[in-house]
Amino acid sequence: MTDASEHFFFLCPRCADNTVLQILDVGVVRDAPATYDLEHRAKARRDFKIAMKIHCLKCKLMDFVEISNDAWQGGKIANDLLVEEPSIYSN
Ligand SMILES: [Zn+2]
Repeated sequence: MTDASEHFFFLCPRCADNTVLQILDVGVVRDAPATYDLEHRAKARRDFKIAMKIHCLKCKLMDFVEISNDAWQGGKIANDLLVEEPSIYSN
C-alpha cells in the first residue's frame, strides 16, 4: 500500500492487522535495458528486479519480497493465484 507521500509499505501477512514491516536490506537482482516482451511492454525502458529483506517487529516474521517489471504486469489478480500460507509460516 502507499500513503500520501507515495511511499510503498509492506504489511505483515501473518499479523493481518495492518502492521507495517521493516525493510532490512535491498539489492538489485537485475537492471538492464528493456528486452522482455516488448510487444506488450512498448513503454518499458528497463527490465529490473529488486529484492528486499523484510521483518515484522511484532511477530518476528522474516522474509524476502521481489519487485520486478518483467513478469505479470497487467490484468486482474485472482484469489486462487495468491499464496495464502507460504511455507515460512509452518515453523
Ligand atoms: Zn507480523
